[in-house]
Amino acid sequence: MNAALLPTHVIGADPADKSFLLAVEALTVSFDGFKAVNDVSFYVDPNEIRVIIGPNGAGKTTVLDLICGRTKASSGSIKYKGQELTKLSESAIVQAGVGRKFQTPSIYDDLTVSENLEISFPRGRSVFGALTFKRDAEVRDRIEEVAHMIFLKDQLLERAEFLSHGQKQWLEIGMLLIQDPELLMLDEPVAGMSVGERIKTAELLNQIIKGRSVLVIEHDMKFVEDIAHRVTVLHQGKVLSEGSMERVKNDPKVIEVYLGH
Ligand code: ADP
Ligand code: MG
Repeated sequence: MNAALLPTHVIGADPADKSFLLAVEALTVSFDGFKAVNDVSFYVDPNEIRVIIGPNGAGKTTVLDLICGRTKASSGSIKYKGQELTKLSESAIVQAGVGRKFQTPSIYDDLTVSENLEISFPRGRSVFGALTFKRDAEVRDRIEEVAHMIFLKDQLLERAEFLSHGQKQWLEIGMLLIQDPELLMLDEPVAGMSVGERIKTAELLNQIIKGRSVLVIEHDMKFVEDIAHRVTVLHQGKVLSEGSMERVKNDPKVIEVYLGH
């Protein structure tokens, strides 16, 4: 491999290094010979917010599909806390602590905010006899805590269908948070949100990275500037550039791709 082509922080990276929460290496998937993701490598640290940007069709959503196991890689590796994910099923990947939000919210419209959060609470922790009471209290506390984080504390008894578009997005983030994933992946979370909702979403993401990392796909550059620790730019299935927003924004390769669109 030509080291000159790699972003500086990757040079010398040891694949066995467990200090990365997520290590994606030489990840490739072809659909009928078309490489939607082509030899992609990147590394996410604990407590990092990484944003993936790139033109439509760059392969961003496919990268998330590969990490969460919805799509199987043709080759390459995805290590999460040192554990290889490419061999695991979607549900085993969730169990391992990877949560993923899709572009359209999948909340239950006819349930309340509280009920939506409750059904997402992980089952089977303590379900026997006297422990049920303890668990109920634990679930209630956790629902309140998460509702507060997602700005829906006053809407707990409201049916989800009456929430605004932005509030529905927050609720779905809450349904993931209640499972306490160590890696949270969000595909265009602020699409269709008002400016005020975008600012609050940035606040939310900056809060929830205590104890976890977030991988976000986003187009809104103001939002990216507000949240990204580092940015990975994808183009035609490959990593075009990577680094701080400042660095990526001034990269001539990135400017060329964005001006061309
Ligand atoms: P982005 O999210 O960056 O806009 P995608 O990851 O959705 O891009 O898509 C990347 C490319 O892969 C596109 O050309 C898309 O048509 C193609 N693609 C994605 N998923 C599939 C699939 N399941 N089968 C065939 N082609 C796909
Ligand atoms: Mg996409």
